[in-house]
Amino acid sequence: MADLDVVVVGAGFTGIYAVHALRSAGLTVRAFEAGEGIGGTWFWNCYPGARCDVESKDYSYAFSPELEQEWSWSERYPAQPEILRYLHHVADKFGLWPDLQLNTRVTACAWDADTSTWRVTTEPGATVTARFVVMGVGNLSQLHVPDLPGLDTFEGPWYHTSRWPKEGVDFSGQRVGLIGTGSTGIQIAPEIAAVAGHLYVFQRTANFAVPNRNRPWQDAEERAFKESYRDYRQEARQSILGVPVNGTGKAALETPADEREQVYRERWKAGGGMPFLGAFTDVLFVREANDTVADFMRDRIRETVADPEVAELLCPTGFPVGAKRLCQSDDYYAMFNSGHVTLVDIRSAPLESAYPGGLKTAADSYELDAIVFATGFDAITGPLFAIDIRGAGGVTLREAWAHGPRTYLGVAAAGFPNMFIVTGPGSPGVFSNMVLSIEQHVEWIRDCVAYLTSHGYGAVEATTAAQDEWMELVTGIAYATVFPLADSWYIGANIPGKPRVFTSYLGGVASYRERCDAVAAAGYEGFTLAPAR
Ligand SMILES: Cc1cc2nc3c(=O)[nH]c(=O)nc-3n(C[C@H](O)[C@H](O)[C@H](O)COP(=O)(O)OP(=O)(O)OC[C@H]3O[C@@H](n4cnc5c(N)ncnc54)[C@H](O)[C@@H]3O)c2cc1C
Repeated sequence: MADLDVVVVGAGFTGIYAVHALRSAGLTVRAFEAGEGIGGTWFWNCYPGARCDVESKDYSYAFSPELEQEWSWSERYPAQPEILRYLHHVADKFGLWPDLQLNTRVTACAWDADTSTWRVTTEPGATVTARFVVMGVGNLSQLHVPDLPGLDTFEGPWYHTSRWPKEGVDFSGQRVGLIGTGSTGIQIAPEIAAVAGHLYVFQRTANFAVPNRNRPWQDAEERAFKESYRDYRQEARQSILGVPVNGTGKAALETPADEREQVYRERWKAGGGMPFLGAFTDVLFVREANDTVADFMRDRIRETVADPEVAELLCPTGFPVGAKRLCQSDDYYAMFNSGHVTLVDIRSAPLESAYPGGLKTAADSYELDAIVFATGFDAITGPLFAIDIRGAGGVTLREAWAHGPRTYLGVAAAGFPNMFIVTGPGSPGVFSNMVLSIEQHVEWIRDCVAYLTSHGYGAVEATTAAQDEWMELVTGIAYATVFPLADSWYIGANIPGKPRVFTSYLGGVASYRERCDAVAAAGYEGFTLAPAR
């Protein structure tokens, strides 16, 4: 008999809710978390400026009406410490701590077909067996530091934003080099610039950033959304991105230019990325329609940045808006008007190496006191591959996914019975409000385990045929959109040697939920169910 019904790997939004949901279904469960605290993304990413870019009223659990009524978010886009406090509150409220085991990294998971259990090995060494494993390892938890020659010779400190020292870093008066201009780089840059003697922003690719117009919630606003929270949550479930977006319902290319411009101006003024992407029906599907947004945004950059050369360098080109994660900042572009911020173009003169005193590009050297890497993650598959996962016949997940990840519904993989993945490849995951997706996945997994248990089944495994059909659907939808048209972390392009495949389900969270529910209602169609031993 297995030690536990379910092992959950990770204690972020996923692990925390999985423990609650599975335990409430009468299952024995333990979450193993490598970090010394819960919170996942919001535990690790404690760099200055870290905040969510989905509004707090959406980026929060919906499973408990009591929780959503009693918790008050201070801001529209809360910063990392507040989100972490919220997750602690959830763990306290639902008494989850006894089943959240910190400082414990899962290093291996091996399927034992004779007993239909997973043998889970952890660091510092204990092994447990469980009927099921739930991978709540996150898509953005395996950090990526580029291989920069000479970094070990650099005499100052260097930091990765996702392993930021908990005690903070004082950059007062220092010369700081920032590498990476994605969502995180754009969030942290103005914070460093506010105190540093000089900030050098090393930019390989300019990214689109919309203002977020962050502000405290007014009491009346909070009262209003809390009064209609149940309906609002339902609307979110019926949406594409997991957030109700008030689109115009029109195609950009069929809208007169002045009317279109007016819509973009209103959304720019209101702030937020999703309203922009959802303004017109064709923006994410037709490149020319997307260009209308891109042109509008480039004009705003030129309007904000005083030096025309710097402005041109900051204007993204060559990929559609949204195909790389759309960044949000109220201060990033204006920051380049300060005399002590320099944009260094490492597209035309690549970064070559670090040396004891700083960084060297093909064109110049930069004397620095500290270096900050905002270079992101080995996304989506990275955290899964970091575990030695061996399924049926001892085949590793790495081998099974050598040419790119393959799943059925994003939650299960053929050859890996009784293993569930939350917001994995093949799910809407990173293209949605992730908290909403996490809850939906976890509840589906909970119901699946309950069904198996009550019907006398011991194992569930996706069939290869169902997986192939699902991946064909995922790919078909993706390539009808503009998303694969960028070298992004979504397709693995930020990691040398990683297969470039686009594996997120872009059909929207509503149709995804419908399909998952239909699969369950049909007795887990596309899965093989084996009797309990
Ligand atoms: C800076 C930043 C901002 C973001 N903003 C948003 C946003 O605004 N909206 C949005 O929808 N999403 C956002 N995201 C995505 C965010 O990751 C998810 O919203 C969500 O927090 C994921 O929760 P999770 O529990 O699935 O994964 P994570 O929060 O990544 O947690 C996974 C946990 O698993 C642990 N783990 C991994 N491997 C192992 C192992 N082998 N053994 C033990 N533990 C392990 C990790 O230590 C980590 O704590 C953001 C991500 C980042 C990095």
